[in-house]
Amino acid sequence: MTCRANKAILRHKNYICHESEGHDPLNSCLPLPKCHNKSQMTQPSFDYLIVGAGFFGSICAHELTKRGKRVCVIDSRNHIGGNCYTEERNGIHLHMYGPHIFHTSNPEVWQWINQFVAFNQFTLRPVANYKGEIFSLPFNMWTFAKLWNITTPQEAKAIIETQSAHITQEPQNLEEQAIKLVGTDVYRKLIKGYTQKQWGKDPAELPASIIKRLPVRFTYDNNYFNDTYQGIPIGGYTQIFTQLLKGIELRLNTDYFKDELPAHDRVIYTGPIDKFYDYRFGELEYKTQTFSHEFKAQEPNYQGVAMMNFTDVETPYTRIIEHKHFDPVELPHTWISYEYPVPYKASESEPFYPVNDTSNNSIYAKYKALADQEPKVSFGGRLAEYKYYDMHQVIASALQFIRNHHP
Ligand code: UDP
Repeated sequence: MTCRANKAILRHKNYICHESEGHDPLNSCLPLPKCHNKSQMTQPSFDYLIVGAGFFGSICAHELTKRGKRVCVIDSRNHIGGNCYTEERNGIHLHMYGPHIFHTSNPEVWQWINQFVAFNQFTLRPVANYKGEIFSLPFNMWTFAKLWNITTPQEAKAIIETQSAHITQEPQNLEEQAIKLVGTDVYRKLIKGYTQKQWGKDPAELPASIIKRLPVRFTYDNNYFNDTYQGIPIGGYTQIFTQLLKGIELRLNTDYFKDELPAHDRVIYTGPIDKFYDYRFGELEYKTQTFSHEFKAQEPNYQGVAMMNFTDVETPYTRIIEHKHFDPVELPHTWISYEYPVPYKASESEPFYPVNDTSNNSIYAKYKALADQEPKVSFGGRLAEYKYYDMHQVIASALQFIRNHHP
């Protein structure tokens, strides 16, 4: 075990020093724990230190505060909201970490979030741009009609059946699953290059589950989601977090692993779980990306749609989003963002998506076994649970966590 691993453990053992323990055996490779520091002794003591101000952390902070707990939230970034963070620029709400479309079929989650914000009627209907040719997404009759110059579901099904006839067994990876669902033409034009770019891997090396996120429809319906409720918060996402964290001690630009922490009893950790344990079972793989935001002063409508996917492998970015189409406003200008996939390096990159293949899942299982033994640390959210959660699933998971621990 390395010193950093010890440090992570000591961080959440600060409370032990405050309460009773005199000596920590892990202390040997570190200076005295911070809790022996005089200035820290005078700091307020919290029941919970919550690491991360995204949905999981902010919901826990809100609900625990309502239950009379003293809570401190820290986040290493300079803002709240995690990747859901939106920022107003020139009258437009920018999704600073990529498109976030709220969708759920869970009435409890829908009701819960509607306490904090009103939603518009936005329905995601993205388009795919393959070398200048436009196709409808998700894969539906509009896509098939354009691709094959056909009109009926029967014709589309017959073509897909012919093109996928060689997949006779249960699909073992994303490539097989995709071909089985939509045939080789759609796979080659709309899936292969995009997936290769987005995940930095050949689709044959990725789990089949990823492509099953997308509906395939034999109707002329290009709604990207099948959920009952869908929309964008009018005025952006950040206001939800502002309300959740109202009156709660919040320390931004604070790194759980490096910075001075206030005294606390328990921890709710929402960062990458492998980092918490100093990668002792190896690094988990996450997919990451960077964004380049561009202001178009003279352009009221740059691409005519909120989200355009560039599905060839040569274009270096995966998507362009035009923010004003999420929450429409009449303005003579616009903001667009390019989304670039970049290779992930655990020590330097912001993790975005877990890569839930067999080898990563088995590494995660080892971390989870350790996490389950922690008496005073809980783990939640996309990064700590290593799950490809959407927003509504994180919310459901956080509400369930609170129900389990603080009914
Ligand atoms: N995908 C694709 N072509 C597209 C859109 C999606 O091949 O135009 C595949 C790709 O492998 C992607 C997966 O479908 O990772 C899931 O897409 P989704 O839109 O759910 O990804 P997210 O919005 O989470 O980035």
